[in-house]
Amino acid sequence: MKRLIWLLRRIFVIALVIIIGVGTIRTVRLTSRQVATEAVQPVNVGDDAIRRFSQAIKIPTFSKESKMDSLPFRNLALLFKKNYPHVDSLLEKQPAPPLSMVFKWPGKNPGLAPVLLMGHTDIVLIDEKTKADWQFPPLSGAVENGYILGRGTLDDKIAVVGILEAAEMLLQEGYTPNRTIYFAFGHDEEIGGENGAKKIAGWFENQGITFEYIIDEGMLVLEKAMPGITQPVGLIGIAEKGYATFQIEVKLEEGGHSSMPPKETAIGLLSETIIKLRENPFPAKVDGAAQELFDYIAPEMSLPYKVLFANRWLTNGILLKQLSKGSSANAMIRTTVAPTIIEGGFQENVLPSQVSATVNLRILPGETIQSAKAYLEKIINDDRISITQISDFSEDPSAISPTNSFGFQTIQKTILETFPDVIVAPSLVVAGTDSRHFSRVSKNIYRFLPMQLAKSDLSRIHGINERISVENYKRAIRFYKQLMVNSAK
Ligand SMILES: [Zn+2]
Repeated sequence: MKRLIWLLRRIFVIALVIIIGVGTIRTVRLTSRQVATEAVQPVNVGDDAIRRFSQAIKIPTFSKESKMDSLPFRNLALLFKKNYPHVDSLLEKQPAPPLSMVFKWPGKNPGLAPVLLMGHTDIVLIDEKTKADWQFPPLSGAVENGYILGRGTLDDKIAVVGILEAAEMLLQEGYTPNRTIYFAFGHDEEIGGENGAKKIAGWFENQGITFEYIIDEGMLVLEKAMPGITQPVGLIGIAEKGYATFQIEVKLEEGGHSSMPPKETAIGLLSETIIKLRENPFPAKVDGAAQELFDYIAPEMSLPYKVLFANRWLTNGILLKQLSKGSSANAMIRTTVAPTIIEGGFQENVLPSQVSATVNLRILPGETIQSAKAYLEKIINDDRISITQISDFSEDPSAISPTNSFGFQTIQKTILETFPDVIVAPSLVVAGTDSRHFSRVSKNIYRFLPMQLAKSDLSRIHGINERISVENYKRAIRFYKQLMVNSAK
């Protein structure tokens, strides 16, 4: 017996030494994925550029599910024509859907695959219920206390106007790119991009044009992005989640009278189903884009976090548990299920026999709409409950774009050149962007908006009091200018 205890102790000590040894080696061997860049002289951006941005913000280019009002989009095109005369006269306008815009800037070397810079001109409607909470008119365009105010400053006129401003500057300087650059600005991204980006992508495909890389909105430079990291992190979206909506319907033989309610009611059953889905979330995993994110982030973290992330063979369970706690981290590691609509009942003293709930799923790359549906069926597993896919606004998750491509590396370099003291990491976009329509014309699709925000400012996107600092906007112009030059050498 004594000998057995002695032996077990020895095994335990040896195992501990091995774990500590391997853990230490793995931590020490983490190498930084950041690249060295030389500082570039910041481009001087005058106040005129701010005034031109303000003018674009004032134009009500709202996306509407019902008939779109085309006049604001035509006015925006006229404003661009007036404000960016070099772009208007020197770049080639390509066939595009009526309210969208596509420009071609021919490069000197037609042998190089072109790049595509994207943005969208439409903005989301102002929620009537929150109108009173705005501290300024939603389409103000005013510049106050170092901020440009109004809907579209963050999403996504910063990209469209920033790109045009940068191109205008380069054209004024007489610059001609080596590589052809295209700009594509859809007009209905906020309602799915069906008539804008999707048709533009189809046109490129028909022309046989494929891109070295594509950059669209999606991620940004985030301050205090995660614990253990002090610098802001420039997140480049290398993939985006899929989207599907299902109706979960409970149908019972009969409802019954509310004076003698049975144990099981349709509303009760539906409620239990929703709880069941919450209690049995999709499996969490750190792979694909999330794994790439941690591979880039871990070497830059403070020691305790470094140890945690470098030794995922040991710490995976703890890590997934921690990540599952916050809603944004949770969305990075699993397919999420959000109940968004619930319907049922019509009279206070009648038990309904049919009730339904709508659940919106955001699907992790690697899974599909079909596999997600199969998971819901497995968890719910009840003949009285049907699961039907209802939205035509659905999309499987995107492919994962590589990080060893010219596109990723050029965007990374440009972020490091234009944002002081940042680190760069690939990431997963949990929402959808127009770029998802372009998977057949490029394998290298990246999602990054050149702006630096604190987490607390993220709610302004699609929310109230949308605004951007003047400094942020100026930097966006510098970023796009530098990106064009870096891409088109
Ligand atoms: Zn957007």
